[in-house]
Amino acid sequence: MHIHTLIIGAGPGGLACARLLARQGIQTLVLERKKVIGSKVCAGGITWSGLISRVPQNLAEKSFPEQHICTPWQKVCIQEKVPIIATVNRKKLGQHMAGQAMEAGATLRTGVAVRKILDGAVLVQDKNDTTQEKITFDYLVGADGSSSLVRRFLGLKSKQLGIGINYQVPGEVAKMEWHLNNHLFGNGYAWIFPHTDTVSIGAYADRRTMNPGRLKKSLLKWARMQGFNLDKQSARAEYINYDFQGWKFGRTFLVGDAAGLASGLTGEGIYPAIISGEHVAQAIINPNHSSETMAALIRNHDKHSRLVALSGKSGFLNSILAELVTLGLRSGMIKFNKLEMAV
Ligand SMILES: Cc1cc2nc3c(=O)[nH]c(=O)nc-3n(C[C@H](O)[C@H](O)[C@H](O)COP(=O)(O)OP(=O)(O)OC[C@H]3O[C@@H](n4cnc5c(N)ncnc54)[C@H](O)[C@@H]3O)c2cc1C
Repeated sequence: MHIHTLIIGAGPGGLACARLLARQGIQTLVLERKKVIGSKVCAGGITWSGLISRVPQNLAEKSFPEQHICTPWQKVCIQEKVPIIATVNRKKLGQHMAGQAMEAGATLRTGVAVRKILDGAVLVQDKNDTTQEKITFDYLVGADGSSSLVRRFLGLKSKQLGIGINYQVPGEVAKMEWHLNNHLFGNGYAWIFPHTDTVSIGAYADRRTMNPGRLKKSLLKWARMQGFNLDKQSARAEYINYDFQGWKFGRTFLVGDAAGLASGLTGEGIYPAIISGEHVAQAIINPNHSSETMAALIRNHDKHSRLVALSGKSGFLNSILAELVTLGLRSGMIKFNKLEMAV
């Protein structure tokens, strides 16, 4: 089988890319190893200014004009007139984006894993791991997440990684909270993100300052202090890649986490995945395409990475920075959306 553009991975990056390509009449195939699209471990937080135009409002479960930030020294509530962050169900977002891509004419195959990448072709295996198939292509898009096979095929290492751990527990909670505490979470943070009938409770940290075992232990201890006993709940964890080294490599492209475009500071990755997915589609359609939105995303990504590197230098420096940023937010000198990946 031969295809014009093969996209590996049906996350937000791959699906955004597929929709734009197919809309231009380009023969596009998306291969997804999971049987169900969208079942990705995630807190489901979408930033209002970055994503609201791309995610329909009816997909938002809850939206929050107030953000509560706690550090060892401060408890702050930031309030805006419009919601700062909303929560979405990743499965519903995935199904919605898959519907859009297919409506535009893209073909999606689920339960099909790419096992090997060759020059101009991939070898895939179906869900029963029985049938091997070779698919050749003109263009290849790696939208296959933080442990991307396409990235490894290109010989790119991922050294700058964050760790995200999420518990999705039944229940209703009113406030969206962020907890910064160097002792527990290094230069990361823990969160409480309310959804419709569930709550996402989790933690994110840079792998260089925190190992996954220690992060999980801290998360469980902190959650207990917040009144959540997670001992009997099951956690899902994944790396978040923020080691960006480019998105175009001849006729092979990387988007989203595969490109290392998530924020190293906050772990925000849905917006970068969608923007880079759309940008790669435009670049395949027109090789001279340039995008200010993508350029701004890369600038923000660099800024976030520099802040992670700085705060990772010492626990003391990290604690001071966390208190200063919180003070800045509290006084209004720093706007919350300055911490977003969108401009
Ligand atoms: C705990 C946690 C919480 C998070 N919370 C948030 C949040 O609140 N807000 C936010 O913006 N971001 C959050 N993120 C980050 C966000 O989930 C990712 O950055 C985002 O999903 C990246 O999108 P993507 O399309 O690049 O990759 P993904 O969503 O990871 O999609 C990649 C897809 O490729 C498929 N795939 C991989 N390899 C193959 C293969 N060989 N063959 C076929 N298919 C393959 C995978 O199954 C997957 O479906 C969080 C991450 C974690 C771990």
